[in-house]
Amino acid sequence: MLEFILASLAVFLVFGYFGLAIGWWTLAAAALLSYLSIALAFGPVTNVVLAGVFIAVAAVLNVPWLRRKLITERILAVYRRILPDMSQTEKEAIDAGTVWWDGDLFSGAPRWEKLLEVPQPRLSAEEQAFLDGPVEELCAMCDDWEVTHERLDLSPQAWQYVKDKGFLGMIIPKQYGGLGFGAFAHSAVVQKLATRSSTAAISVMVPNSLGPGELLLHYGTDEQKNHYLPRLAKGLEIPCFALTSPEAGSDAASIPDYGVVCRGTWQGKEVLGMRVTWDKRYITLGPIATLLGLAFRLYDPEGLIGDEKDLGITCALVPTNTPGVNIGRRHMPLNAAFQNGPNSGKDVFMPLDWIIGGRDYAGKGWMMLMGCLAAGRAISLPTSAVGGAKALVRFVGAYARVRTQFKTPIGRLEGVEEALGRIAAHCYMMDATRILTAGAVDRGEKPAVLSAIAKYHMTERARQCVNDGMDIVGGKGICLGPNNWIGRGYQLSPVAITVEGANILTRTLIIFGQGAIRCHPYVLREMRAAKEMQGVEASREFDDAFTSHVSHVLRNGIRAFAYGIAPSLAPAARSASPDTKHYYRHVSRLSAAFAFLADISMIAMGGALKRKEKISGRLGDVLSMMYLVSATLKRYEDQGRIQADLPLVRWSVRDALHRAQEAMEGILSNFPAKSVATLLRWAIFPAGKRLRPPLDSRNRECARIALEPGASRERLTAGMYHPRGDDATAVLEAAFQAAVACEPIDKKLREAQKKGVSDPQSILTAEELSAWQRKEALRKQVIKVDDFPQDFGRAALVLGEQTKIAAKAA
Ligand SMILES: Cc1cc2nc3c(=O)[nH]c(=O)nc-3n(C[C@H](O)[C@H](O)[C@H](O)COP(=O)(O)OP(=O)(O)OC[C@H]3O[C@@H](n4cnc5c(N)ncnc54)[C@H](O)[C@@H]3O)c2cc1C
Repeated sequence: MLEFILASLAVFLVFGYFGLAIGWWTLAAAALLSYLSIALAFGPVTNVVLAGVFIAVAAVLNVPWLRRKLITERILAVYRRILPDMSQTEKEAIDAGTVWWDGDLFSGAPRWEKLLEVPQPRLSAEEQAFLDGPVEELCAMCDDWEVTHERLDLSPQAWQYVKDKGFLGMIIPKQYGGLGFGAFAHSAVVQKLATRSSTAAISVMVPNSLGPGELLLHYGTDEQKNHYLPRLAKGLEIPCFALTSPEAGSDAASIPDYGVVCRGTWQGKEVLGMRVTWDKRYITLGPIATLLGLAFRLYDPEGLIGDEKDLGITCALVPTNTPGVNIGRRHMPLNAAFQNGPNSGKDVFMPLDWIIGGRDYAGKGWMMLMGCLAAGRAISLPTSAVGGAKALVRFVGAYARVRTQFKTPIGRLEGVEEALGRIAAHCYMMDATRILTAGAVDRGEKPAVLSAIAKYHMTERARQCVNDGMDIVGGKGICLGPNNWIGRGYQLSPVAITVEGANILTRTLIIFGQGAIRCHPYVLREMRAAKEMQGVEASREFDDAFTSHVSHVLRNGIRAFAYGIAPSLAPAARSASPDTKHYYRHVSRLSAAFAFLADISMIAMGGALKRKEKISGRLGDVLSMMYLVSATLKRYEDQGRIQADLPLVRWSVRDALHRAQEAMEGILSNFPAKSVATLLRWAIFPAGKRLRPPLDSRNRECARIALEPGASRERLTAGMYHPRGDDATAVLEAAFQAAVACEPIDKKLREAQKKGVSDPQSILTAEELSAWQRKEALRKQVIKVDDFPQDFGRAALVLGEQTKIAAKAA
């Protein structure tokens, strides 16, 4: 009997591990029962009963028709009862976008070779020339202090340049006069601008993200495309997109803004149109927009265009000079100078063909928005976050080398080093994620879940980086002025956190909530079978999805357990570097554990999991960390396994893996069913929690990369704008290079001082003295903080200045 039990257990583990089909389980069960019968010398009656039971169970499990009738159709009936109804907007959000590497991570068995074979995205010669030419030029035209304090806008020359050079039409194809750039190029442009002026970056990225351009490209009628796209491409129209209203922020689908289909007079003729009433706020570029993309709910009470009375959310393009459109006032988002403000209209009559896509697309606005959301979300905010992080590595690293306290560059004091090393390592991982995600968009993916991961984690990391940067820079970061190159970035970080899906909601509702349905190999199939199919079709589809799902759960649970005991069993990419192979194994283990945990959480909590955001947020964190680690490992391979960059990989990957483990611990500690949590802990952490946070020694190596001029620092900050002349950051870079070059001279001076000689002229050669004096002059310039007269900042003065500037420009 003991042998039978042990053999059964072995079969269970091995067959479950390999996810074998039910037929193999049946054969194994037959063999085991035969063995039992012989070993225990069962009599004929027992054998007949045993065989009868076996045949009945095997038939039910192996004959699909029987299985459906006796098992899965009953489960389907229960499932239909407990599955909460999904609103149309939820359905459209779920259906939007594509599943790629997120599907692999959700499967419990990521196919690493598939990831490593994906080609690195590259810029075309034309795209590179645009970065080296117009983008460089635009950066040079933007003085951030002038923009954010004196003008509260880009200069008229910069605006004209943006329009003339086609910055507003980067995603518009060449046939319409746009630049026709891919996502990677779009991201490179925004990244470079973000290292110079967030106002320029935001003003450029918004028209290239979700808005009139993108919506027209996908859904516009030929007439709309031919009219608007060339005008948008050439900057003859400035677009904005207005969805958010005072009552509908995160819950954007509940907008109260409405339109009513009616007849009215348009350009002297009676036409079928709609009277639209709206009140929007926070709309970027709104105050200067000439073309308002407007989302509202359309009603047709008189049935003028069909039977539906409530057609649903509709998107229209409204020229802002239309009578009744109130637009132009500005908000002041934390001193940022990009144009942002409210707009409204009451009973504004507009023809039906202002609906994007025409009359046929009335009521399809939410589907259109969800369909276009992923590409922009994958680029805009993640990319500007990376630009910010790169600027921090370069500027804060340089400052930490130039600024000395206690006769030591502050970057070498361990506390500062810790924060600086974090900035450098996060920056490497963020850039890796930018590249992988933008590349996916260029290959045709619309990564709904991955773009949410990129948006959330890159803006959060940028916030952590800028907080660390501010701590390092101290008072110099706090006092604003033309010499402060960090304060505005610090002010702006909550804006990135809030827009395009506020971060708390993105983490707790979208990453796992959408991921669990979209990326899971079977859940969506089961849901569709339950809610959208009937009769035999539903029964067959549910049976197939459900039985595969059971095997999937079993396989992941057993694999998580096996990998937890013997991590070397977990697969790594065959072609990966020996330096990083173990990280692939850790992700494979986490992936199996995550998939198992996600399934058990869904089974244990059902629909309530949606409301248990502390659990679903942590599940989302595990998925996110696996994606960020995947991107980092791929970048290391793609760049040719550069050993000098390995500390950045090691710190960031260990940090993310440890965070994933802690997120799992958080789920288990707070799991509502304690006995289930105990079983889960045995399966997931059979040998305890093995992942440790990154080592201090690695953190030191990362900080060194930011503190030393060299190839690693250049690679880490590649794609930045480098100002020249007396710009504060150009002076900082010069002071940094001088500080490094003068280190032997400083040492000589210190040694002489110890011997009581303090006059540099008597210690140094003429050449050394000149280099040292230059370095000292630069250092003093760098540590200088701006000051202002007593009456600085009074509203009247600012207004007066603005009037003068406007008069000069005119
Ligand atoms: C500078 C700026 C520019 C913008 N540009 C535009 C634009 O061009 N066009 C446009 O249409 N909109 C724009 N927005 C609007 C932006 O997208 C919204 O601010 C955002 O969606 C959040 O809405 P809210 O600020 O009203 O916050 P609220 O919806 O009030 O949310 C407050 C908090 O509650 C959290 N929360 C809400 N629901 C949930 C939930 N179910 N679970 C967990 N947490 C939740 C949020 O994460 C947030 O932390 C902009 C906003 C700003 C500030």
